[in-house]
Amino acid sequence: MPNALVVEDDPAVQAALVQALRGLGLVTQAVSTAAAALQEAAASELDIVVLDLGLPDLDGVVALTMLRSVSNVPVIVATARGDESSVVRSLNAGADDYIVKPFSSKHLAARINALLRRSKPASTHDEADDIIQLGDLRVDLSRRHATLAGVMLDLSRREFDLLAYLAKKPGHVVSRRELFDAVWDHASTSDDRTIDVHTSWLRRKLGETAAAPRYLHTIRGVGYRLTEPE
Ligand code: CA
Repeated sequence: MPNALVVEDDPAVQAALVQALRGLGLVTQAVSTAAAALQEAAASELDIVVLDLGLPDLDGVVALTMLRSVSNVPVIVATARGDESSVVRSLNAGADDYIVKPFSSKHLAARINALLRRSKPASTHDEADDIIQLGDLRVDLSRRHATLAGVMLDLSRREFDLLAYLAKKPGHVVSRRELFDAVWDHASTSDDRTIDVHTSWLRRKLGETAAAPRYLHTIRGVGYRLTEPE
């Protein structure tokens, strides 16, 4: 089970976060200072950290920079400061995502699940599980590349994430919403255009068109499906 650490000094918010994370099946501990968080990060194997920026002992961004020097654990910053400069400073300091308070536990869950999926270490499953073969399309999840009929596809990070997510559910229709939560950081600002543009780039790289799809099918008004060609 993944280990989560909540760093939050407000007892009520901390309790709510712990409850939400445990509800996701995460083994969750909580601390209220940056010092305790750094200690915890050095002492235990963490899979995710939810970090408040307004901590009593250290500025959260400073804490994050220090945390980054000892660990590359995925960090989601939970902040009451929704202003752009706080967000940009957090991201520059190494946050993987951020969420502006107040937020719902459902929203937090979507962000955390997306982060955990992306950061899942390759070493926890067999090599064979890391390769998905659909017809001539081969997606190597651990090496993060894909080939079509043996030819390497030149995919951006997002295009690869998109392809990998769809490839893990071959033949299933995946909604735009689900793709957005899984592949994009900002689940709250869902934008169908963003997904459509990326899927059209991906489709071009797969050498097909929306009118004559082989692997990547658009399900109008719903989402996408990746499937082995007939
Ligand atoms: Ca605080």
